[in-house]
Amino acid sequence: MSKSLPARADVAIVGGGIVGASIAYHLTKIGIANVVLLERKQLTSGTTWHAAGLVGQLRASRNLTELAKYTTGLFEGLEKETGQATGFKQNGSISIALTEGRFEELKRGASMAKNFGLEVDVISTAEIKARVPHYNMDGVTGGVFLPKDGQVNPIDVTQALAAGARSRGGKVFENAKVIRILVKDGKAVGVETADGTIEADRVVIASGMWSRELGRSIGVNIPLHACEHFYIVSEPIADLARNMPVVRVPDECTYYKEDAGKLMVGAFEPKAKPWGGGGIDEEHAFVTLPEDMDHFEPILASAIARVPLLETAGIQLFFNGPESFTPDVRYYLGEAPEVKNVYVATGFNSIGIQSAGGAGLVLSQWIKNGHPPMDVNGIDIRRIHPFQSNKSYLRERVSESLGLLYAMHWPYRQAETARGVRRSPIHPYTKDLGAVFGEVNGWERPNWYARDGVAPEYGYSYGRQNWWPCADYEAKQLMTGCAFFDQASFAKYIVEGKDALAVLNRVSTAEMDVAEGRVVYTQWCNERGGIEADLTVTRLGGDRFMVVTGAVPQTRDLAWLKRHAEGKACVAVDVTSGLPMIAVMGPKSRALLEKLSGDDLSNAAFPFGTSQEIEIGFARVRASRITYVGELGWELYIPAEFAAHVFETLWAAGKAFGLTPAGMHTMNNCRMEKAYRHWGHDMSDEETPLEAGLGFTIAWGKKGGFIGKEALEKHRAKPVRENDWYAWRSKTTRSPRR
Ligand SMILES: Cc1cc2nc3c(=O)[nH]c(=O)nc-3n(C[C@H](O)[C@H](O)[C@H](O)COP(=O)(O)OP(=O)(O)OC[C@H]3O[C@@H](n4cnc5c(N)ncnc54)[C@H](O)[C@@H]3O)c2cc1C
Repeated sequence: MSKSLPARADVAIVGGGIVGASIAYHLTKIGIANVVLLERKQLTSGTTWHAAGLVGQLRASRNLTELAKYTTGLFEGLEKETGQATGFKQNGSISIALTEGRFEELKRGASMAKNFGLEVDVISTAEIKARVPHYNMDGVTGGVFLPKDGQVNPIDVTQALAAGARSRGGKVFENAKVIRILVKDGKAVGVETADGTIEADRVVIASGMWSRELGRSIGVNIPLHACEHFYIVSEPIADLARNMPVVRVPDECTYYKEDAGKLMVGAFEPKAKPWGGGGIDEEHAFVTLPEDMDHFEPILASAIARVPLLETAGIQLFFNGPESFTPDVRYYLGEAPEVKNVYVATGFNSIGIQSAGGAGLVLSQWIKNGHPPMDVNGIDIRRIHPFQSNKSYLRERVSESLGLLYAMHWPYRQAETARGVRRSPIHPYTKDLGAVFGEVNGWERPNWYARDGVAPEYGYSYGRQNWWPCADYEAKQLMTGCAFFDQASFAKYIVEGKDALAVLNRVSTAEMDVAEGRVVYTQWCNERGGIEADLTVTRLGGDRFMVVTGAVPQTRDLAWLKRHAEGKACVAVDVTSGLPMIAVMGPKSRALLEKLSGDDLSNAAFPFGTSQEIEIGFARVRASRITYVGELGWELYIPAEFAAHVFETLWAAGKAFGLTPAGMHTMNNCRMEKAYRHWGHDMSDEETPLEAGLGFTIAWGKKGGFIGKEALEKHRAKPVRENDWYAWRSKTTRSPRR
């Protein structure tokens, strides 16, 4: 290795695992050749070297599936392109169900796969047996076969990606630890190593389980934590077919892979062992962790029962290695909201090999163009909330994350660990009222209220939900009487300053120069006209506004706003914690709130889309007449210390009006019924307001325009869009887009 590090690079990548190598490969492929990949030890020496190398294609969404498909295609051609073997083998994969619920899940996955353009077959027990004759079929209900799934050698793939990068001018340095990321004026400007400093326009943290600490050193939040991850490899088995597909038996938490005549058995056990929370040894490289037979024994026992050949084969290797996991079992990609020009690609939750190609493709284009080429909000680093880096939270949560890869992916499945983290001030009251909580970024939110003998817990199912009668009752009360929703989790920012109006007008599609007390529904678009955020803005005073958005995009939307307020006389402050919100909705909400406040809340005195301060009990609260459920109602924004008092007052008076607690399921059901969109589900940065049917928010003629106006005007003239991603996708997928 040469230690003559360059003085400057367009992009410095920290970490020479498969992900860092893939980013270098893809950056050089799209013309950014001045790339430096810095690895503290040797390439692959972190987690990559010991991965099992399974490469599956079906993921939870269309875009992630497209990326996984892209990865397979990349691996297929990499050897030819670089001359470096990759061990790529396309023997397909079989997932086996042992319960009717699992078979239903697999069949749903198969129909999704077909829709995404993947080859897939639902197969019977007999067909499974024909493909993997050594497997015991006891208890098997059926399975699915994906013929294009496969396996690779992760070390070889990483070397091939690095070779591809080098061949186009990229530089790869081993034994080159990045000691510090250099930041100036809120922007990354380079990296410091023991052998010198490299000035860089962009820095990518692709440092595996080291990423959390590296990010923290510059104020970038990357919540991940390693867990021990196990597999065994048998002695050679004479009868084992070399073309055996990868087999997954998720109900037994196991996967099987043929590996040079031996059988590898890996585990995704329900309760994993967090590792390395106290810090990772500086010298850590190609490390294996101690065996833990007690921990692995239940997996091994079911593996022996499933593949009886294992009983006599003997175990050649008991492997235990660390891998990083995240609180929501999704990896992190994109530009960090805290520091400009710092990009993140890490936290791969045991699918880093099969995700590496797609992650490299997306991040390289993100770096080049300043935005991702497609909607990747599910993996965008901006979904993270600051508290999630708390070590105790992480340690507890990741013990569950690992097992979730093979657990049943029930609709509405709730996390079982690290619960009760963020609670509304009225949480004890809603709990007493029978709330069954769902967790979103740490918030405990009443999803539904158990009643009429329904047990206050989820009865998971792919069929009719056990909570349905309760939500149905809530909706009927909402439509005929009144109901309240605890919406403390909704994010709120106060935007203030001489330039506040100009900044908000620039980012919003709607006109912000409205009368004091007006509530305006708007989108925030990017230059391409895609919807970055969907929210309301209330003008509190001349230069003072309140922005209200969802719980999930709290970090993302604030970061977007702050970036566009840079250099302006305007501050945006997150007041979510201090300003819980209770929504009172339904035809009787007016009478209830009039009684409580003593104010006239008629249409004339308090029109829709306006906001006023009213009194409830001994408190003053901001009441905004707006609705996300399609009924007459008010959102009450209450300073946190008054929330319990306001709730008690509301609840006591509400009895006479039939006030009913209602949960997030009812909110979702009712808003869907009215076709109120939800960012992240119904629209994303890939769709424009025009496509989303939200063109009515756009103030085309407003002074100074707004971000995305030019693209939207073109789109208005010619509704079918053309962009890189569409062009790329139309070349790579056979499936219709929608
Ligand atoms: C037992 C096991 C089986 C697995 N099986 C599969 C599988 O079948 N399929 C699959 O898709 N995934 C699998 N995985 C997961 C996969 O191995 C990882 O997701 C993937 O390797 C992560 O790659 P990475 O590049 O993000 O991290 P790493 O490989 O850990 O690379 C990060 C690199 O950054 C370097 N680094 C850290 N700090 C610095 C610094 N300051 N300066 C310079 N360099 C630095 C480290 O030395 C390291 O080499 C498995 C994991 C395990 C543990």
